[in-house]
Amino acid sequence: MLRVSTRELAKEPVGASLSFSFPGGEAVAEGILLGVRGTVTKLARGYLVHVDATWRTDAACDRCLDPVSYMQSASVDEEFGPEPSDDVRPLDEGEIDLLPTVEEMIVIERPLKVLCREECQGLCPVCGQNWNHGSCSCEEEEVDPRLLVLKKLQENES
Ligand SMILES: [Zn+2]
Ligand SMILES: [Zn+2]
Repeated sequence: MLRVSTRELAKEPVGASLSFSFPGGEAVAEGILLGVRGTVTKLARGYLVHVDATWRTDAACDRCLDPVSYMQSASVDEEFGPEPSDDVRPLDEGEIDLLPTVEEMIVIERPLKVLCREECQGLCPVCGQNWNHGSCSCEEEEVDPRLLVLKKLQENES
C-alpha cells in the first residue's frame, strides 16, 4: 500500500509522468487515510512526486477531552532519487514508497490546538465537570484571592 511502481516510467523519456491513486482506509500516524493521489514525473536522475492526501484524525478536545474528529488535506512535492539527501528521499528498487511522505504530512498539519468547537467551555479545574454539558457549584466558590482581600477590608470597615 502507498507504493508506486516506477518500472514502466523508467523506460520513458525524462519529463514523462504517471498518475496514481489509493482509496485510503488505513491508519497512518494519528490519522485514517481517506485518499491519496498524485503524479510521478521522471527526472534526469530520480523522480518528482506530487502527492495530494486527505485524512481524518480522531483526537480528544484539548479543553474538555471530548472526542473530536476532523478532516484535513494537504499537498506536497518531493523528489525521490538514487542519492538521498535532506531534500531527496531514497528510491526503492522500482518502487516509490509514499508512506513516510504521507506520515510526515499528517504530523506537520496537526493543529496546535484541537477543540471540539471554538467556544468550548472546558472542564471545571475543581470537580472536572464538563462545562459544555452544564455548570457546577464550584464556579461561584472560586474567587480571585485579590478580591477576597478587598472583601475582608470592606467587612472590617463596616
Ligand atoms: Zn471541548
Ligand atoms: Zn466544578
